[in-house]
Amino acid sequence: MPGREEFASMGPALRVPGLRLEGKDAVGRSIEYHRPSSLADACELLRQFGDTAIPLAGGTDVVVDLRRGAKAPKHLVSLAGLHGLREISLGGGMLRIGALVTPAQLQSSEEVLSSRPELLDAVGVFGTPQVRNRATVGGNLCTAASCADLTPILLALDARVGLATPEGPRGIPLVDLFGDHRATLLRPGHLVSEVMIPAKGPGEGAAYEAFGLRATNSITVAGAAAYLLLEEGQCIGARLALGAVAPTAFLVKAATEVLVGTEGGDAELEEVGRLAAVEAAPISDIRGSEVHRRELVERLAVRAFQAARRRAQ
Ligand SMILES: Cc1cc2nc3c(=O)[nH]c(=O)nc-3n(C[C@H](O)[C@H](O)[C@H](O)COP(=O)(O)OP(=O)(O)OC[C@H]3O[C@@H](n4cnc5c(N)ncnc54)[C@H](O)[C@@H]3O)c2cc1C
Repeated sequence: MPGREEFASMGPALRVPGLRLEGKDAVGRSIEYHRPSSLADACELLRQFGDTAIPLAGGTDVVVDLRRGAKAPKHLVSLAGLHGLREISLGGGMLRIGALVTPAQLQSSEEVLSSRPELLDAVGVFGTPQVRNRATVGGNLCTAASCADLTPILLALDARVGLATPEGPRGIPLVDLFGDHRATLLRPGHLVSEVMIPAKGPGEGAAYEAFGLRATNSITVAGAAAYLLLEEGQCIGARLALGAVAPTAFLVKAATEVLVGTEGGDAELEEVGRLAAVEAAPISDIRGSEVHRRELVERLAVRAFQAARRRAQ
């Protein structure tokens, strides 16, 4: 079997490099650690083990889940040996970000700065320097948390994801990746290999605004990402994605309907904000009430569109 290492059989003191994860889960069951060196082998291992295996990228979600017993896989399939997934490239009008690229890498990438600097709005509120150096873009999407900060801006930018599957590679719109709360629609053996985002063109602007209980390293209470395409003062394209206010991040239908064909003035933006607050389906929890989250959506949507408009102009 490719890249297989039996951590449990080598004793509980052995650790996954860099993660300090012992070879047992929270209730003492053994976990086998696999480190394939090709995407094909990784997909094959995941297909073979089915729902007893999970992929491991940066581990900033997986390890927390293992420690608190929220996940109990028999196999961890590490993606660390898949070096091709750490690359960022720009060509043919498309920015391609490998699934293992970290937020810190996005921050220092010339390709991101020149073609999609709006992504850095989400990186700016993302965790701590340690988390930004460890977490991955693919992991952020596949954790399918509604509060994941990269998802709304990528949805607003109409991103697609490249999938590696036992049947070969294919691409899907990012919006089709998500099932329900914390669940992707990926089948066993399927991995996200990259994210593809159209490079910024003339008249385009996007922005992400998030509210958390601290400026950074706090779970987003509500987030809004806006995209505008302006031509001769008219809005000919608009998208708004919301995070943390429904079971998954989602695109607000009303944004396109209200804004396209207008000048995208403040009155229209405020109308979109109001409709977005209605379309949202937030919960009340320790970080904020449903009512507070709806108010946040209204304000954050307007602010994100105003910033997107400035950038588009
Ligand atoms: C202290 C702390 C602060 C944090 N702050 C933030 C924050 O501000 N904003 C934010 O959005 N998140 C934050 N997070 C959550 C986490 O860091 C991110 O969701 C991160 O991007 C997950 O990436 P990872 O590589 O660590 O994923 P992992 O933990 O390795 O994996 C997450 C999930 O995705 C699956 N997976 C990973 N890669 C793939 C792939 N390529 N294909 C298919 N499935 C895959 C795994 O099986 C797992 O289910 C924080 C976490 C911690 C511990």
